[in-house]
Parts: sequence; structure tokens; C-alpha cells
Amino acid sequence: MKLLIQRFLLFILLFNFVNTVSAQLKNTNERPKLIVGIVVDQMRWDYLYKYYDRYGNDGFKRMLNEGFTAENTQIPYIPTYTAIGHTCIYTGSVPAIHGISGNNFYIRETKTRMYCAQDDSVNGVGLDPNNKDGKMSPRNNLATTITDELKLATDFKSRVFGVALKDRGAILPAGHFADAAYWMVDGNWITSTFYMNTLPQYIQDFNKADYTSQFLKKGWSTMYPLNTYSPHVPDNNPYEGRYFDEGSITFPINLSEAADKNGRDVIKATPFGNTLTLELSKLILDKEKLGHNPTGAPDFLAISLSSTDYVGHQFAINSAKIEDTYLRLDKDLGDFFHYLDQKVGKGQYTVFLSADHGAAHNPQFIIDEKGNGGFNVNKDLLNDLNNMLEAAFNVKKIIYALTNNQVHLDYQVIDSAKLDAERIKSMIINHLKKRHAVAFAVDMEKASSATIPEWLKTMTINGYNYKRSGDIQIIFEPQWIDLYKNPTGTTHGAWNPYDSHIPLVFMGWGIKHGNTNAPTYMTDIAPTLAALLHIQAPNGNIGKPIIQVLE
Ligand SMILES: [Zn+2]
Repeated sequence: MKLLIQRFLLFILLFNFVNTVSAQLKNTNERPKLIVGIVVDQMRWDYLYKYYDRYGNDGFKRMLNEGFTAENTQIPYIPTYTAIGHTCIYTGSVPAIHGISGNNFYIRETKTRMYCAQDDSVNGVGLDPNNKDGKMSPRNNLATTITDELKLATDFKSRVFGVALKDRGAILPAGHFADAAYWMVDGNWITSTFYMNTLPQYIQDFNKADYTSQFLKKGWSTMYPLNTYSPHVPDNNPYEGRYFDEGSITFPINLSEAADKNGRDVIKATPFGNTLTLELSKLILDKEKLGHNPTGAPDFLAISLSSTDYVGHQFAINSAKIEDTYLRLDKDLGDFFHYLDQKVGKGQYTVFLSADHGAAHNPQFIIDEKGNGGFNVNKDLLNDLNNMLEAAFNVKKIIYALTNNQVHLDYQVIDSAKLDAERIKSMIINHLKKRHAVAFAVDMEKASSATIPEWLKTMTINGYNYKRSGDIQIIFEPQWIDLYKNPTGTTHGAWNPYDSHIPLVFMGWGIKHGNTNAPTYMTDIAPTLAALLHIQAPNGNIGKPIIQVLE
């Protein structure tokens, strides 16, 4: 018996020794040839499973079957908007640090409104140079991205490209040192002088081929018979918006008619915007020979698929339009992965797929089903608040803006009238808290002591950038959203799981097969990639590598 135990112990020792040696053997500087980042704009985590049975084997299911899925990935800040999401994924950081505090935000010092990617010092390339849609760069992002760190780590030998219909979806992920970022303006792919002075010939040719108009001409019919789609509501229902006020809302949708009235960018709010984005991504892969860097350094292609967001805003999340958009995206992703297998080699590249935020249900739909929710009518709130303050202090326009559900106080006005800012803030907070839509209103500078759940404090503080955020954060009741024009479609921006629970799936080189239900965060994506690549995490990173993902 003693001998048996001794032999067993020896075996354990030897086993551990062999394991340690093999682990040490893996401590090399091997890297994938290419990293492909895919951000699906407005993709709720549950879309992975809601349409699972209808997905093919090559797209989302291939990622789940071969790769690693972090099933409980949360966004750790509010507001949950596109520009912030893309920046967080690529910096591992939050607005408090990277400074992208909204799609649009106000600079406190100057009270000027700034678009996240706005850069008036550059011009568009591929359109009228004075068109503001071309005057874009990543300069407003104060932190480095994982793409920037890859450039720094390889002495700029790695090549980095960003592609998306939305400028911010291409520019913010590609980072400050990118070779190029391309986005779409009126159906054409463009860039800015931040990257180059002339569009590459192959992009010009892609524009000339005018696939946009070809898709618009064909219109949008469902990929499968309409009666096989699952929505609880019929295709013609009061919760969906229209491409043009008087136009048809049901399949088949006449896109030419919509484009005649609204311009060729109508393509963005169809699944074909994603198809075009992935087709251009393939072209860039081919022409730039990504994944075949002569120096052996890994290249990086950062793709964002924006159409899902446009379709979601317009038709809400429980529509045949959304289902068809995801079924088509699944097919397009399958084709794209096949292309990567051919061009770069199966197992030679690493892909990750995530989202910048999710989306709520249409509140009217929830109310009609006997749930709680509502539309916050914001139109007069700024005036109401200013009128209340004027009545109390006899000073006009104490609040200069209301944006991202934040109240911006005009300290020039407050200081010159020698008013008490603390008293003003508490009056505003008390007024806001009485509103039906509002659960909490939080003084940003005092968020850590606010009487709100701990996680909401963390999200508020992470989202608060002193120089670029407002003074008071409004937090809605669950399932309440701002009413824009009509009570149709949906939006996002809140802390709630429908907006903040995102998919995160890795696949390919260096990735284990499996899943975890342990909480992980959007900020963990960049440090996980940094660990995979043996490079420094971005300089504002506050996330942690998800170690279960890595082989
Ligand atoms: Zn959106």
C-alpha cells in the first residue's frame, strides 16, 4: 500500500513537471497573423440565442462552436452610446479616462458642442473637402487603443485598418496610428486627411461600381418566407418607424423610393449596409494583404457593423426586420470567415465579436402587453428647469444644455450672479426626481455618496468626465426611453441589462473552446487581446484579461 502511494505521488510529481515544461514551452512570442475585431452595433447578447435555431453553421454558430463565449459581459458605465462603446472596447477604458463621453458632448471650459470624431483641422477625402462628414479623426480619444498599442509594440510594422458605415465605428477602434479608416457618406466610402490625401484606387473603384445603388434597386424582401419569422406582432404594427413618413412599412420594402426622398444613405438602415461593409473589408484584406505582413507582425482589421443599429432604432427589437437583419448578417459573417480561412488560413487569425450597446423594447409594445415603461417627453424639460430656476433666482439660462441625460450648468452665469451652485443642483435634482420617467438624478461630483445601488454609482462615476460631462445625471425608470418624433422604434443609453449586456465571443488563434458565465466587462476585451498578443495594455486600461479565453 505504501509503495502504491509513493508511486502515485511520483506520478503526480512527474505529471506536474511535464505540464510545467509544456507551459514554459508556450511562453514564446508567437502571435496570430491577424486580429479581426467585429463590433455589431446595438447587438443585444440575447440575439445569439433568440435566432440560434435559424442561424447557419458558419457565422454566429461557428464562433460559439469553435470559440469562447463570455456570456455575462456588461458595460461598466452610462450612457451606453455608440462612440463610447467602441472606444471602451478598444481602450479597455471608460469616459472618465478616455474622454469620449457621448456621441456628442459639451466641453465644459468653452460650452461648445463637440461630435466624438469631429476634427476641424482635417478634411474629408473622397467627398467635398468642406463637407463636415469628412472632417473626422480619433483625436478626441485621450487614451491609446489596443490597435495603437499593437503599432507601438511592433515599431509601427503592424498595419491597422478600420471600416464601418458610421465614421465613429471606423475611426475610434482603428486608433490614432491607423493606416486608414473608411466610412460611408451618401452611399460612398470616404476617409479624411488625417490618414491620407487620396483614396486608394481600389476604394475609388469600389465606389464607382456603386453596389449601394444596386442594393437599393433590388429592395428588401425577407430571406425566407415571411410566415416563418417569429415576431409576436405582425409585420404591419404600430411600433415600427418608416423610411419616409408616407411610405410602406411592410415587406417587400421599396428602397429606391426611400432613397429618392432621403438619399442613398438609406442603405445604412437595411441589412445590406452590413453586407457592403463586409465586402469592403474583404477587399481591404485582399488588396492590403492583411495577415501576410512581410515583417511577420500581426495586422489588425477593426470592423463595425452599423446597420443593426439603424434597423433597431427604426423598427425596434421585436420585428421581422430585425430578425431578417440578423439572419442575413449571420450568412454574411459565414462568408466572411470562409474568406479569412482562404486568405489568411484557418487557425492563423483571431476574431472577436462584441457590441457597443444593446437596446430596449419599444415602450408602447411593453405597455400594450401590460408591462411597465414609457416615453419621456424631453422637449420642454430644459425650458421648464430654467424657468423654475429663474423664478427662484431671477437669473436666466442657468442651465445651458441637456444632453446624454445630463444637465449642464452654466457656471459663468452662476458665478457672475454670485449664486449658490449647490443649492441650484439640489433644486434641479428634487424637481427631476418628481418626474414619472426619472428613477434617480445624481450630482456627478457626489455620485459616490448618492443613495443609489452600488453598481449604478460605479457606472455613473465611470461615465463622468469632468471636462466633458454634465453636472447631474438623470437615470430613468426601467423601460423608459426618450420620445423623439414618434413613439416608434427604440433606443439605448441606459444602465439596464437590455442596453448593457453585450455578446463577447472570441475565435481562432490562441483561443480556447468554451464559455464562462462569470461576470466580465467590456473593459476586459482590450487587456485580453493585449495578453494574447504579448503587448502592453492601452494606457487608460482599467479592465482585466479574461484568462479562461486564452489557451
Ligand atoms: Zn444607436
